[in-house]
Amino acid sequence: MRRRGVAVATLTALMALAACSGNSDRDAAPVTSAVTSTTVAATSTSSTSSTTSTSSTTTTTLPFPGYLGEEVIGTSVEGRPITVQHRGDPNGIPVLVVGVIHGDENDGLAILDLLRTAELPSGVDLYLMDAMNPDGLANDVRGNAHGVDLNRNFPHDWTSIASPGQWEYSGTGPASEPETQAFIDFVQRVQPRLTIWYHQDAFSIAPSSGPDGPVRAEYARLTGLPLEGVPGGTYTGVAATWQRRTFPDDTAFIVELGPTLAPGEARRHAEAILAVVPLLP
Ligand SMILES: [Zn+2]
Repeated sequence: MRRRGVAVATLTALMALAACSGNSDRDAAPVTSAVTSTTVAATSTSSTSSTTSTSSTTTTTLPFPGYLGEEVIGTSVEGRPITVQHRGDPNGIPVLVVGVIHGDENDGLAILDLLRTAELPSGVDLYLMDAMNPDGLANDVRGNAHGVDLNRNFPHDWTSIASPGQWEYSGTGPASEPETQAFIDFVQRVQPRLTIWYHQDAFSIAPSSGPDGPVRAEYARLTGLPLEGVPGGTYTGVAATWQRRTFPDDTAFIVELGPTLAPGEARRHAEAILAVVPLLP
């Protein structure tokens, strides 16, 4: 009987893993929530009985401790879902992490992977958006399937730049792209107090003289990134800027990773996000 129980638990975990890897959300939901409660129980048991041991690997195979759900917030030009996963304290400080907006800059995904299972401080309400630009990610190109640089397509200071396929092509108008519209709707609803956007590969964080300056500086210190601006480029219609102007009390900034991201670096970034939450203005 015991063996049978273990087999069932393993099967359930595998089903949950399959569900979280992606394609079916409706069918996956009940399975996932059932496993989440198992995870919580397993975690609390192991924490009362001394320190963690290798047997707690069972726990790590169960995804999303504190899992609150997954939402498709919109659809890309080519019909891919734009998905947000939610975990933590639903009454806590909303924190949004976006792994990919430029489709060929995707090392930030490793940080989101870590954040799916990282132990969260209390009071953090974490939203994980792997890709705002799923078409660009799938096709390994910067823009969306219209050739639009989504980080030049936001309504604040939108300016017509370049033409389709050129690297900073702004689109035909402010928020002309479905991915931009989906993101705007989502942020207006959730109003994250902190949003981190991952890019590559300038290896820097721009400093700020505003109230979010200390948050950026601490993030840079924790991750070893230089606190300096990126030269060149035309910065109109930028997502983080739109967020800051629309919600002046909230913090949103870009983290430029290097050309590669070692596992240890990814861990430092995941930890840095959680560490700066108490510093938010
Ligand atoms: Zn970029």
